[in-house]
Amino acid sequence: MAIQPAAGVPLAPLTTLGIGGAAQWFLRATTPEDVADAHEWSARAGLPLFILGGGSNVVIADAGIPGLVVTMAIGGTEFRRSGDETIVSAGAGARWDPLVREAVDRGLAGLECLSGIPGSVGGTPIQNVGAYGQDVSSVIQDVTVFDRESRELLVIAGADCGFGYRTSRFKHRDASRFVVCRVTFRLRQGVPTVTYPDVVKLLQQKAGRTLTVGDVREAVLTTRRLKGMVLDPSDPDTRSVGSFFTNPVVEAGIHARVASASGESVPGFAAGAGQVKMSAAWLIERAGYARGHHAGRVGLSSKHPLAIVNRGGGTARDVLDFASQIKRAVVDRFGIWLVPEPVFVGLDGDPAVSYLGQKGS
Ligand SMILES: Cc1cc2nc3c(=O)[nH]c(=O)nc-3n(C[C@H](O)[C@H](O)[C@H](O)COP(=O)(O)OP(=O)(O)OC[C@H]3O[C@@H](n4cnc5c(N)ncnc54)[C@H](O)[C@@H]3O)c2cc1C
Repeated sequence: MAIQPAAGVPLAPLTTLGIGGAAQWFLRATTPEDVADAHEWSARAGLPLFILGGGSNVVIADAGIPGLVVTMAIGGTEFRRSGDETIVSAGAGARWDPLVREAVDRGLAGLECLSGIPGSVGGTPIQNVGAYGQDVSSVIQDVTVFDRESRELLVIAGADCGFGYRTSRFKHRDASRFVVCRVTFRLRQGVPTVTYPDVVKLLQQKAGRTLTVGDVREAVLTTRRLKGMVLDPSDPDTRSVGSFFTNPVVEAGIHARVASASGESVPGFAAGAGQVKMSAAWLIERAGYARGHHAGRVGLSSKHPLAIVNRGGGTARDVLDFASQIKRAVVDRFGIWLVPEPVFVGLDGDPAVSYLGQKGS
């Protein structure tokens, strides 16, 4: 076994929130063999193993993470024509947005609405990354994983990944069993249908000529920047995990009740079988937490009420307490239980994390 983990590596600089203590042990994996060796190393040492991608969807404990943290650096991206499709295969450690840009530059449709999302390729299947009406599940052909149970590399077809709204088997049912080493996407030349109103509005300026996937990427990036949703070291509103809560999917009757009580038009999108997806941002603002609202070292982005930002020197404790206050305010006002989107690491048993995970009383 060739690997040599380093001791006591600070993790906050490896996250977009800029929060968290050190990894007890730390390793950069550049091949699936490194991943297999890391698994053996941690098993022999009797220590837990945690996989870190781009650190854009994690809240790491102030005390750090016990055991071995493996950061994914498996690279290699390949575009291959197959009939009228292009098969794109990328290592889990590749950065997501450069991959999207390259696909768009080649005129390929399927990823353009996912422009500007930070993180790694390997992180995208975990919560079925999505934005502006697109998500990766619609174009993932398969995912190559190291299975920590059988200790072998497996190829899991997209249809078997258990994808749902911001979820997959990798996030819940099989959390920590599989390490994603490579993701393969199936894309086509063409122009997508764009439905998201803000993006549609920007694209109307191009009326009169055929839209390209490049136009859609630019419109999405412009929209995201206005919301502080594209990482920018000079914009403190981007020091976040993106959206902190997912949009709740509720019975249509609950949406109607909120609309009737508030006396205004309440955003809601049909989500199948009598269900409506509500806007978590709307609920948070109406519960008294406007954009820019803050509590000491953490607060809401001044551009988007769904992003909790580290205003400088913030801790995981600050984030959890502030997020709990927001969740409580929405429950008290609307009876709706928001569920957090990021993964909490090194925080098992924390009462705030248990509360944030609750889906009802
Ligand atoms: C400004 C901003 C905007 C964002 N906008 C969006 C958005 O529009 N839509 C959206 O869906 N998300 C968004 N996000 C959230 C985040 O960028 C995505 O979820 C991203 O895919 C996370 O990838 P990552 O590599 O950073 O994962 P990390 O944060 O490092 O890890 C997240 C989870 O995935 C696991 N994981 C990561 N890589 C692997 C791997 N190779 N194998 C196994 N497990 C792995 C980790 O163990 C952890 O549980 C945003 C975040 C920020 C900061």
